[in-house]
Formats: sequence, structure tokens, C-alpha cells
Amino acid sequence: MSVKNTVVVVGGGIMGVQAAWHLAKLGQSVTLLDQYLVPNQWAASGDHLRVFRLTYGKDAFYTEMALKALPLWLDLNAQSEETLLQQNGVLELATKENGYEAQSLAVLKDRKIKYDRLEPSLVRRIYPMYNPKAFKWALFHPDGGMIWANRSVAATASLAQRKGVRIRSNVKVTQVLRDRQGVRGVKDAAGRVWEAEKYLFAAGYWSGELLKSYGLPIKVTRQSQLFLRPMISRGRYRPEHFPVFAALPVGFYGFPVHIHGFIKIGDHRKGPAVKRPDHERLRECTPQFEKTCRKFLKKFIPELAGFTEYEGHVCWYDNTPDDDFILDRLPDAPNAYVAAGFSGHGFKFAPLIGKSMAELMVGGKSELNLHRFRLGRFRLRRR
Ligand SMILES: Cc1cc2nc3c(=O)[nH]c(=O)nc-3n(C[C@H](O)[C@H](O)[C@H](O)COP(=O)(O)OP(=O)(O)OC[C@H]3O[C@@H](n4cnc5c(N)ncnc54)[C@H](O)[C@@H]3O)c2cc1C
Repeated sequence: MSVKNTVVVVGGGIMGVQAAWHLAKLGQSVTLLDQYLVPNQWAASGDHLRVFRLTYGKDAFYTEMALKALPLWLDLNAQSEETLLQQNGVLELATKENGYEAQSLAVLKDRKIKYDRLEPSLVRRIYPMYNPKAFKWALFHPDGGMIWANRSVAATASLAQRKGVRIRSNVKVTQVLRDRQGVRGVKDAAGRVWEAEKYLFAAGYWSGELLKSYGLPIKVTRQSQLFLRPMISRGRYRPEHFPVFAALPVGFYGFPVHIHGFIKIGDHRKGPAVKRPDHERLRECTPQFEKTCRKFLKKFIPELAGFTEYEGHVCWYDNTPDDDFILDRLPDAPNAYVAAGFSGHGFKFAPLIGKSMAELMVGGKSELNLHRFRLGRFRLRRR
């Protein structure tokens, strides 16, 4: 069977659905294929929550990008009639006087973004669960917060469908068919060929495998997270009282109570590299990770450290060597594009990335300068 479209998007994570929606808004006839359901629990976008922060240390480029993404999230909130970006603020605990958070503060100040610099005693008065001896000061920015991730995928998918996007679940693309002109189709596991004028590959941590012949420099790492139920005072961990928190230089970040009375903490430091994600161990919490979490909590939020009800959650990052994304046309294929390599920090930018990819694919360039994300910065190994 052969299906003709203007664009075929491979991958129905947040990047794929956002791009598909924007492509449809630009008048394209789009089919989106995903090997599972949209959303699904194995995708990086299939979790409950992601952090939305405007702070990136001294890297003002990403702060600018988050600023550009913010109105697009608010527009998505409005169009979907859901609170997908919930701006309950981000509290960053600085363990050094002049470290990462001080650099972030300088950028926020320069860009006139609202923030508060809080002394530990004040943090303790507002948020009594924190140990004021664990950090030197804290940076709070109220425009940050949390994004309901899998709900954002579902809401975008349904807006895209309303614009005419055809979403085809359980279609695994196994082969990219190329000729001298570029990509001429993608073949699925059932042998069907899906044809279009243009293609967008937004396959998350499967991108390296799907586009194997391009040798994309994407390393997949296994990342651990832990859901735990506070044993006491659960009310004060609700989103309206307890902002998203982060102590990124020591690795950890976390969210308020959001599902069945559980809060979540995660470690942003890169986990072990894997060849094949072990999907069957999705809910695993290794004794070692449990221990690291308890140690972090004992220091920063002591009343949580004795947690008894908990569950692990494993997720995979698609890392590039420089942690910058890949948003570009594929070499040797003027009609094929890739959006991948989000290196564990892409979600917050998804509406901006979807819009930019759609502009690039339809008009040849995007309003956002994508130079930093070009494939040409790497020496690709053709396999
Ligand atoms: C543990 C963890 C924490 C994170 N925290 C944050 C955060 O706090 N803030 C932030 O901004 N970002 C965060 N990120 C990053 C963010 O979640 C990702 O950058 C984003 O979700 C990537 O979306 P995606 O659409 O590229 O990939 P995915 O969501 O993985 O979607 C890819 C889709 O492609 C489909 N697919 C793959 N191969 C094929 C194929 N051959 N055929 C058909 N379909 C295919 C898959 O089934 C999947 O649905 C985090 C990521 C992880 C793993």
C-alpha cells in the first residue's frame, strides 16, 4: 500500500506532534507515524511532568529560547483549555555563592525576568521542609514551573488532528528508502511504504537506530527517577505550596505531589550509556539509586528521607556530544529533516521547536536561528 502526503512525520513524542500541528497550520497534508500509541510510556515525552525553567547558568541562548517558548505554551494552555504548563515557580538551591545559580541570576536580571534571591532562613520560613544548612542561598523564578508532559502530547495530538493530521499508531518504521534525489519513502514493519514530498524524523532516543546510515552522534543514557509518597504533611507538598525544586550542580530536581499522592525526584547527571533500552525494567529502582536519593533528601529535605512507599521510573536521554539539539536537514536528502538529540532538556522548548521545524520545512528558514543546532557541527560517520 502506498500513501501520499505532503509530509510524513516519524515519531509522536512532543516534538513530532508539535511539528505536525504547526505543519498542518502552514497548510501541509501530514501523516504522523508512531511505533506505539501517542503518547506512550516508553517515549521521553510519556512521563507525567517535566521542568519548565528559564535558568540555564550563563547560557543566555537557552534562556532566550525558553522566553520564546513561554507564550507558545500559554497559547497551548488556552487552545487545549487545560493547564499543561503550570507556573508554580522553580526554586533553585545554590550550594555555592558564585556558581551556576549566580550565573542564572545575572541572566534573569539582564533580561528583566522576575526572580527573588532568598536567604536560607527565608526559604525555611516559606517552605519549612527545607534544611537551611544545606545551601547558601536560593533563586526563585515564578514564571517557571512544571509541564504536564504526556497530557501535552495528547492535547497537541488532538489539536493536530483537528487541523487534519492523520495519526497512525502502532506503525514502526523499519527502513528509510532513499534515491539520488533524497528520501522517497519510509517502510514500516508490515512492509507498507509511506510516501511524501518531505519527511521529518523525530524519533527521540530511537533516532540513532532509525537513521543508522547517517551515524548521528547520539548516545543514549539510562536515567533514573523515583516517585515517593511523603509520609507526613502531604498537603504542603501540593503544587500551590511547593514549587519545582532543583539543585542542578549536585544533580537533583523534583516536583510537588502530582499523582496518587506521590512526588518525583530525578537525577539530571548522565546515567550509564546503553545500546538497547531495557524497556522491561521501566519501573526499576536500583538499591544504589534509592540510596543516592535518600542521601540527597537527608541533606536537603530531611523529613522525606525515610520514605517507605516508592517506585522507580527509568527514562532515556538522547545525548549529543555538546548537549545541543539536532534540528536540521539531513545531509544528501534535501527533503528530509531531523529533530533529535534533546539531551534530557528539550521538553520546555517543544512548541518553539515544532514551530521552527515547520517553518524550516515549508519556507526554507525559521524565525528562530537554528545555526547552533546544525548537523554540520559534527563529523558524521556514514555507515
Ligand atoms: C528522565 C527524563 C527527564 C527529563 N526532564 C526534562 C525536564 O525536566 N525538562 C525538559 O525540558 N526536558 C526534560 N527531558 C527531555 C524531554 O523529555 C525530551 O527532550 C523530549 O520529551 C523528547 O521528545 P521527542 O519527541 O524528541 O522524543 P520521544 O518523546 O521519545 O518520542 C519519540 C517517539 O518516536 C517514536 N518512534 C521511535 N522510533 C520509531 C520508529 N522507528 N517508527 C515509529 N515511531 C518511532 C517513539 O515511539 C516515540 O513515541 C527529560 C527526559 C528524560 C528522559
